[in-house]
This record gives sequence, C-alpha cells and structure tokens, in this order.
Amino acid sequence: MPKPKAIIIGAGIAGIAAAIRMSVKGYQVEVFEANDAPGGKLAEINLQDFRFDAGPSLFTMPQYVDELFKLAGKNPQDYFEYEKLDEVCRYFYEDGLQLIAHADLDKFANEIDQKTRSSAKEIHHFIKKSQTIYEVTNQVFLQRSLHKIKSYLHWDTLKSVFRFGKIDAFRTQAKANQHFFKV
Ligand SMILES: Cc1cc2nc3c(=O)[nH]c(=O)nc-3n(C[C@H](O)[C@H](O)[C@H](O)COP(=O)(O)OP(=O)(O)OC[C@H]3O[C@@H](n4cnc5c(N)ncnc54)[C@H](O)[C@@H]3O)c2cc1C
Repeated sequence: MPKPKAIIIGAGIAGIAAAIRMSVKGYQVEVFEANDAPGGKLAEINLQDFRFDAGPSLFTMPQYVDELFKLAGKNPQDYFEYEKLDEVCRYFYEDGLQLIAHADLDKFANEIDQKTRSSAKEIHHFIKKSQTIYEVTNQVFLQRSLHKIKSYLHWDTLKSVFRFGKIDAFRTQAKANQHFFKV
C-alpha cells in the first residue's frame, strides 16, 4: 500500500520537527520552503570573519531536539554536541551598559545588582515568579496538544486550571516588568 502523503509548508524548526514526526509515523513527507535554505528564523549571517545569529542565540530546550533525533532512530551526539556555558550571552545597550547573562542565577543576579538600579533580590523574585508560570503552563501548553479533547481531561490540566491565578494572565509583559523592577 502506498504511504499516505503529508505536505508541510515552511522548513523552520517547527516544520522540520513536524516533517520528522510525520515521516516516523509512516507518511511520505514533502516540505515546501520559500527561502533558499531551511531553518527559518534559525539562521546566521556571515560577514567577513564575523558570524551573527539572525534569530535565536540561546538553545532553550535541547531535550526537544534530542527527542526528534531519537524518534528517528538517530543518536543526536553523532550529529552535534552542545554544552552548558557559564556565560550564556552578553547584552549590549545603546547607553554603553553591558550585561553578562551568567548561567548561575546568583552570579546573574549580582551582575544586575552591580550594574543597574534593580537589586539581586528583585531578580530572584522575578525568576521565581517565571518558574511558577512555567510550572503551571508547561504540562498544558508545551507537553500536550490543545487540539485534543483528552488534554483538557488530564489531571495536569485540571491542576493548572486551579492555579490559573498564578500565571499573571491579565497584564502585559511590560506591566509585569514594571511591577518587578525599578524603571
Ligand atoms: C531575533 C530573534 C531572536 C530569537 N531568540 C531566540 C532564542 O534565543 N532562543 C529561542 O529558543 N528562540 C528564539 N527566538 C524564537 C525562535 O527563533 C522561533 O520561535 C523559531 O525559530 C520559530 O520557528 P518556526 O519554525 O515556528 O518559524 P520560522 O522559523 O519563522 O519558520 C517558518 C518558515 O516557513 C517559511 N514559510 C512561511 N510561509 C511560507 C509559504 N507560504 N511557503 C513556503 N514557505 C513558507 C518561512 O520562509 C520560514 O522558513 C528568536 C526569534 C528571533 C526573531
């Protein structure tokens, strides 16, 4: 029997992930991409000796990329290696301020404390709040599909509904930031 066909529009990371998953499920997959190369926002610009990230610099959730390789029966380490850096990245501001984003939270909070008007305590408070929002929403929005009825009947979803008040849903990011930090 011929394989069922799947057509995917766009070869950004989402399209590539969908293509791998459909292919593993037995579909004959065709991916259409408007750009000359795959990757979407995940692209780089090379100018002389310099390389710039056109989009993401931070590899936020490597476990999901590993998962795709494993689903396809491949060992991710045969293709690329990544390691956690002590210094995640540096932020450069127009007024000359440079901030180092240390992976270690205490070090990062001290960096903010020393170089801005915000305190280490405020950073810890903000990160704690972000962690809570992540914990409440992760199982519902990242781990499950909102397109499936059974996701709404899952215990994790119910738990999150009861903790809805914790996710700060009724104000913008800017308003929340103003609340947490001196601006
Ligand atoms: C400046 C910047 C910094 C970022 N930093 C980070 C970071 O540090 N860490 C992180 O995790 N995320 C970061 N992100 C977010 C991350 O880049 C995106 O969430 C992710 O790349 C989106 O992938 P995607 O496949 O959903 O969409 P896209 O990457 O936008 O891919 C969509 C693809 O579809 C193609 N396409 C669209 N319409 C058509 C069509 N009709 N026909 C054919 N092809 C089509 C497009 O050409 C594109 O290649 C950043 C984003 C930006 C812009």
